[in-house]
Amino acid sequence: AGERARFAALAAELSELQELLAAAGTHGLLVVLQGRDAAGKDGTLRAVAGALNPVGTRVASFKVPTADELAHDFLWRVHRQVPGRGEVVFFNRSHYEDVLVVRVHDLVPETLWKRRYDHINAFESLLADSGILVVKFLLHISKDEQEKRLLDREAEPRKAWKLNPGDWRERGLWERYTAAYEDAVGRCAAPHAPWYVVPADDKDERDVAVAEALVETLRPHRRDWEKALEAVGTRQKAALAEMRART
Ligand code: ATP
Repeated sequence: AGERARFAALAAELSELQELLAAAGTHGLLVVLQGRDAAGKDGTLRAVAGALNPVGTRVASFKVPTADELAHDFLWRVHRQVPGRGEVVFFNRSHYEDVLVVRVHDLVPETLWKRRYDHINAFESLLADSGILVVKFLLHISKDEQEKRLLDREAEPRKAWKLNPGDWRERGLWERYTAAYEDAVGRCAAPHAPWYVVPADDKDERDVAVAEALVETLRPHRRDWEKALEAVGTRQKAALAEMRART
């Protein structure tokens, strides 16, 4: 119950900060969500993205690439989904799939996926240099909790639509994924694009941890955004006064 109240308070502050970000228009926010199957990416989106104003917020989901996407570099489909200044975009899976599932299943040669860490780091610096705040979350569930959730999907008629035999196959590759996640987090964490590894066995704690990290990312900009908005307000009032003086 304490976690719920804490989440409500964080959600309220997050929503207020998002309004400032949208109005000031100097920064955008990119939130990357990664995690194993059943780690709770959908639930996190429902709670955290759901707390924001839908105007100015978007979710981009990255699935198995289409033929057209595969004919391009791996960042092509990703770059077109990034937020502009004033926008918040959540990535449900992301360019990290290209060093996770792709590596675990040998979908491209090792010499190619190994070079992708540098490409990802350069891409995220480019975003940061363009005013985009980048925050990445690895929703971390235990092997036992994943089993429980996958079995739950079989047992509950209302969850059965989420069943995917592939999830059990991926579970069989647990250690290979662990190694891939460790490299992705270790090689692509930067002050301008940090990774947060969030314990996700408990859903309420997970939502609080994500909301808290986002609030802490935006909060340092609050004063600047408020000042930018005051300056706009002052200009508008002056324009209005001038118009009234002329009529
Ligand atoms: P969720 O993300 O909520 O678990 P899902 O697994 O039901 O959704 P799918 O339609 O199965 O959604 O699409 C996600 C699948 O696409 C995952 O198995 C993911 O590993 C795969 N995928 C995403 N990006 C890539 C990529 N670049 N290369 C290969 N596979 C990818």
